[in-house]
Amino acid sequence: MRPIRQITYHQTGYPNDTVESITRWHTTAPGDDPKNPKGLGWSHIGYHFIFTPDAVLHKTLAQGVVGNHCRGDNADSIGICCVGAGAAFPLDKGYMTLAMFQGLLRLTRQLLVAYPTIRSLWGHRERASGIEQRKSCPGFEVDVLRALLT
Ligand SMILES: [Zn+2]
Repeated sequence: MRPIRQITYHQTGYPNDTVESITRWHTTAPGDDPKNPKGLGWSHIGYHFIFTPDAVLHKTLAQGVVGNHCRGDNADSIGICCVGAGAAFPLDKGYMTLAMFQGLLRLTRQLLVAYPTIRSLWGHRERASGIEQRKSCPGFEVDVLRALLT
């Protein structure tokens, strides 16, 4: 089992994404599909978990498998992505519903119990790759989660 030391939160940046569309985006080779000209051509989806706007949690990648969601941090992190664009808060007015946020908190608590080795929770935009790419992802201050979990 790989060591898991951090959780990184993301947003898709598109309000209508589905697990299928994200999988297509991540796994289609660039240029192969005219509907996905920006296909990334990875061997599997990059995120371990995805919350869709209906607040359903989708387990999209085994936690033992290294994801592809935050360059430089993938080896020891779990990537959680919420479908949505823009600001997450205020809840039910931004892209995140109260139910989605409660799910995110619940999942984070479960992961912190499952992996006592987790030391950090990050928003993608706080990490080097996110800063370099000028990401606003995940559209909220992870300090809110940090404060609720301590
Ligand atoms: Zn991201």
